[in-house]
Amino acid sequence: MELKFTRTVGHSAQKEFIKKSLESGIFPQNILVSGIPGIGQVPFLLDIGELLLCESTDIRPCRKCRSCLEWQNRSRDNVHFLIPLKEAEQKQKDKLAVAIAKQVSDLLQEPYGFNPSPRQHISIEQARVLTTKEKYAESTRITRIIFILGIECMMEPAANALLKMLEEPPPKTYFLISCENREKILSTILSRCVQLRLPPLSQDDMTLFVEAYAQQHEIPPQKQLIPFCAGSPGTYIDYELHDGVKLFQLAEDFLISSVTQNFYAFSEFINAHSELSNMEQCLKIMELVLEMIRVSLQVKNGLAEYIEHEQILKFTEIIGNVEIDTYIKFLESSMKAVSQYSNPRIALLGNFLQWK
Ligand SMILES: [Zn+2]
Repeated sequence: MELKFTRTVGHSAQKEFIKKSLESGIFPQNILVSGIPGIGQVPFLLDIGELLLCESTDIRPCRKCRSCLEWQNRSRDNVHFLIPLKEAEQKQKDKLAVAIAKQVSDLLQEPYGFNPSPRQHISIEQARVLTTKEKYAESTRITRIIFILGIECMMEPAANALLKMLEEPPPKTYFLISCENREKILSTILSRCVQLRLPPLSQDDMTLFVEAYAQQHEIPPQKQLIPFCAGSPGTYIDYELHDGVKLFQLAEDFLISSVTQNFYAFSEFINAHSELSNMEQCLKIMELVLEMIRVSLQVKNGLAEYIEHEQILKFTEIIGNVEIDTYIKFLESSMKAVSQYSNPRIALLGNFLQWK
């Protein structure tokens, strides 16, 4: 049987494990896929789900069998998504299904774009599907998939309901679970799952992803951003959504104007850019500066020789003359100040004066 992972870039060892498990006929019922944000948990789980559901014995997914067609039309009642939602969406019980359908539709469109905010949760209402165990006992012939995306967003009652199900999963029911931080998950849940950890993508795999993404969205590929994505396609998408190229330029200018420790130069830069009055944009810029420094230090210390990038050499030169620990502290305190005050530009200038 030939298996295709149509959404997932890289992660060949993990794909191999799934292939072997499917071929052996003993597929783990509880799988937890972890890794840094945007590394590919969701596309990988969607691929696994599609492979499990397909009925072909030749090439999977065949996209022709009854199961595949139902999956494409999203007309299945044996596939469930537990997905983090905002409180307002949870409250309107009659609209819960609509809110979930919208999120699922977005995810199928852009599986690497899964990026729940800390204010989104998986409630007990959503986990209701876990407690209707009898329903699953009706037929053991149909494969059922329960995707739990962002399990760390699960409220305690929902997690308890899940735990009960994981202890004794009904036949042919598969729990496909994603997480970004295993430390936030009950150890009793972890111990009941086969755990697959996704490592950062190589630069080559990242390039493949960026080219495919650019083609799909009919935009130019921003390869200069790749070294600063920590091997995460989701991070690349996040940069893209925040106007990647401009963001990159602003981060570079921020770095140049701030390392001088010259208040006049820095305030001139701050006042010249209205983007910095947007808190989200402002934080993104500083996150990118931190990432630029992290990568530059890696290259400088010979830990990331594979990155041959003239931009990085430039950054290494720029930060070469500053006390780097102090500068990182300045960046971190600036991010804190920006997220606490209503005017990011004033917060930045105030914090700069203190650093000086
Ligand atoms: Zn099929």
